[in-house]
Amino acid sequence: MSSVPRYLRNPRRWYDADGIEQPPATIANSKANGARGLLIHCECGHAGAMPFDGLPDDLPVPDVALRLMCPACRRKDRISTRPNLAGAHTGAGPKLRSVE
Ligand SMILES: [Zn+2]
Repeated sequence: MSSVPRYLRNPRRWYDADGIEQPPATIANSKANGARGLLIHCECGHAGAMPFDGLPDDLPVPDVALRLMCPACRRKDRISTRPNLAGAHTGAGPKLRSVE
C-alpha cells in the first residue's frame, strides 16, 4: 500500500506516520471488542450514543457518521463516531441524542 498525500486523505480514516491508511474499526470488530454501541460527537459540542441496531457488520465505524445529522447545528460533516467500549446499551434510536 502506498502513501496517501495529506490533501487526498479521508478525514474518517487514520494514517500512520508514513501516510499509510490504516484499516478502520468495523461494527463487527467493535462488537467483538465488547462495545455496546457507538459514541457520537459533533464539533459543535453535541454528543450522543446509539446502539448497533440495524448497522451492517462490515460497515466501518467512522462511516456511521455519514448517516447522521447533528440535531443541534444541523450539520452532517462535523460528526465523528467511535465504539462505546464503556457504556451500557442506551436504547437510543438511530438519531443523535443529547446526553446533556
Ligand atoms: Zn453539531
